[in-house]
Amino acid sequence: MSKPNGQTIFLWACILGGAALLGGLVLMYENQGVAGNPSTARRWTLEQIPFDGARAYEYLRQICDLGPRPSASPGMLAQQEMLVEHFQKLGGKVNLQQFRIRHPRDGSEVRMANLMVRWHPERKERILLCAHYDTRPFPDRDPINPRGTFLGANDGASGVALLMELARQMPQLRGKLGVDFVLFDGEEFVFNDDTDIYFLGSEYFAREYAAGRLDSRYRFGIVLDMIADADLQLFEERNSVAWRETRPLVKDIWSVAARLALREFIPQPKHEVRDDHLPLRNTGKIPTIAIIDFDYPFWHTEADTADKCSALSLAKVGWVMHEWLKKSVK
Ligand SMILES: [Zn+2]
Repeated sequence: MSKPNGQTIFLWACILGGAALLGGLVLMYENQGVAGNPSTARRWTLEQIPFDGARAYEYLRQICDLGPRPSASPGMLAQQEMLVEHFQKLGGKVNLQQFRIRHPRDGSEVRMANLMVRWHPERKERILLCAHYDTRPFPDRDPINPRGTFLGANDGASGVALLMELARQMPQLRGKLGVDFVLFDGEEFVFNDDTDIYFLGSEYFAREYAAGRLDSRYRFGIVLDMIADADLQLFEERNSVAWRETRPLVKDIWSVAARLALREFIPQPKHEVRDDHLPLRNTGKIPTIAIIDFDYPFWHTEADTADKCSALSLAKVGWVMHEWLKKSVK
């Protein structure tokens, strides 16, 4: 994913303008323990949370052990094989939605595939849960080695690992709505940030959906990205709260987190992030939000590795998703 340039300019304007008051307020806020209402936030341990964060973290590690996973790479193909087997074993109906693009550097053909997992396919109306499963070709924000190795533990593996664990709960999910997991390819097959196109997989998926070629009607979509940072801070994403049709969904999910006394879901907007929810909403007309922790110092660097992520963070986000699903599919 990326940030719009306007945001960078705005941030600089704030800094250069000496927005001391704002800085002071943020500090005060953080000293309170972030949740806004610290008296209701609890310090949960892994054992207390009814979502197996330890196993989700083990999945994250297994994905990272495959190495870098850019579109069409050996790591991506190995990951596809692992995930198809995993989701099929748990009872999901798995399908690879294949498409081709031209390589942004040399114009050669690149084969891509979104991985779709359907639960209760007989249910007409559905909820879409997604993440990207490709990793950026290079850690281009790395201060030392921007052409080095990018593993994408948080930016790539975290959303996939969460859905791998959530899959265990899906067969017994009772209600009227079905659920699809979709793992997008080509979210950031980006070699040059100025010219290359983001969101190839979600754009393809959204076009197929808008053309009526998919066998699902989605009521909502949720993109999970960078949700395993050991220092987890989930502010509301600015596009997701600005769009009239998705704002209630943001409020609903953050209120589930408040009910569970999870201080990491902070009910305030902070970053505007360009991610797969843009094509899903703009092209596919699916009301889709992003849940993303954009305060991650290792973003697009070689240091985005499994040791920066935590089982507890995965447990917390997984718990919120499961609780929200249980009430929303009814
Ligand atoms: Zn990224």
